[in-house]
Order: sequence, then C-alpha cells, then structure tokens
Amino acid sequence: MGFRPASPRHRHHLRYVKQWAESGNGYSWANNLVHERVHAYGQVHVGRYSEPNKCDLAYVAGNLAEAILRSTASGGPLPADSKLCPALTAELRAGRMMM
Ligand SMILES: [Zn+2]
Repeated sequence: MGFRPASPRHRHHLRYVKQWAESGNGYSWANNLVHERVHAYGQVHVGRYSEPNKCDLAYVAGNLAEAILRSTASGGPLPADSKLCPALTAELRAGRMMM
C-alpha cells in the first residue's frame, strides 16, 4: 500500500515535501508540514506572496514549530528574523526562544 495524492494540488505540495526531505533541512520541512496542515483545515492566503500573509495562521503556526525546533537544537535564543510576524517574534522573545 502506498501514498496516493488525492488531487493535483496535493501532488503539487508533495513535490515540495520531497524537496525538503531530500535537502536534509528538517526544521524547514517541519515548518512546511505544519503550514500545509493549517490549509487542510481551510485557511487560505490573500494573494501569492508570504510578506502580506506572515501573520496568518498557516505562517505563524509553521514558523512557531520551526522556531521551537531550532531554539531547542541550538540550546539558546535564535537571532531575530524580520520575515516573522511581529506578534510571533514578541512571543518567542517572551519565551526566550529569540533575541
Ligand atoms: Zn500557504
């Protein structure tokens, strides 16, 4: 029994998952898995670009998962990242996961 994507959209996402898996960047891969899971619950972005959507649930949940994994692995707070939602950055700083 194998995995069979249900739609062209799923096949499109599966291509990205394979690229991340093959890249060995598990943190980014985890981010994407969480991000795409939020879409499965119905959340959609406005437009095609990440910047105006960086505070929507899919980006915040995915970036939170990645930040938890990276800060745990590094044993200390992460450098600031301007691509993250400012509210997420504030929470990560409060939790001592980001400088
Ligand atoms: Zn998305």
